[in-house]
Amino acid sequence: MEDSARMHDDPIKMINYYLSSIDGVKEYVIVLEGFPIYWSSNLDQEKAEELAALAIDMITSSDKYVPRKEEGYVILGTETPEGYTGAVRLKPNLSLLVRGEPRIVRMVLLNAYRYVHGGFKCPWCGGDLSLHIVKCRNNHSLPVGVGVCPICGSRIDYFKCPHCGKLVDPHGYRVSLKTPRENIVAGIIMGIAGIVSIGIAIPIYNISSIISSILIAASGLFFGLSYSGLKRKLPVRIDNK
Ligand SMILES: [Zn+2]
Ligand SMILES: [Zn+2]
Repeated sequence: MEDSARMHDDPIKMINYYLSSIDGVKEYVIVLEGFPIYWSSNLDQEKAEELAALAIDMITSSDKYVPRKEEGYVILGTETPEGYTGAVRLKPNLSLLVRGEPRIVRMVLLNAYRYVHGGFKCPWCGGDLSLHIVKCRNNHSLPVGVGVCPICGSRIDYFKCPHCGKLVDPHGYRVSLKTPRENIVAGIIMGIAGIVSIGIAIPIYNISSIISSILIAASGLFFGLSYSGLKRKLPVRIDNK
């Protein structure tokens, strides 16, 4: 309790906890005033200092070649023999270097930047989603913004906002669930076919034909209705503006 309360007070600790929880992040270091203050548990201090120096090097050399605006961010990325390496300057004295799966690295860097600069708002309630962790179908822990799990390939169509419980698209759009149109159409066609076959059977056939027609029609109707409910409802993105 006490520990988590203190953690919420300290944005750097929150980012550290976030990075340590994401699958696909191999190693990371958080750099304050040029020195590593938090790093992934698989690194020792010497290696953390090495990576902190690399982060500073990546960021300062990008400053030299890419004119930097007062506002905004540059997410840097490069392939190294140790894997894809990304870095971002969160604040003038605070930087972050992350190594691992490229899409995940880029997303966690962006989300950490968003977290420090006003958050990534839920389109329903306005709560901050920047450091929210999304689980894919195979239970990989992923950053918000990754629509397909890069580890197992399963799609992430939507997740529940941790603040209001409503459905949100990984890119921050509102989502609602709808029955696919083909299911509704199948249900209607089966229903009409059932009614028509009863209508045809009554004037033409004898009593046993009418009864069997009614049974066929009823099973058609039942199949149509249950088919409507069989398929999973589809997430439908609702644009915000
Ligand atoms: Zn919300
Ligand atoms: Zn996965």
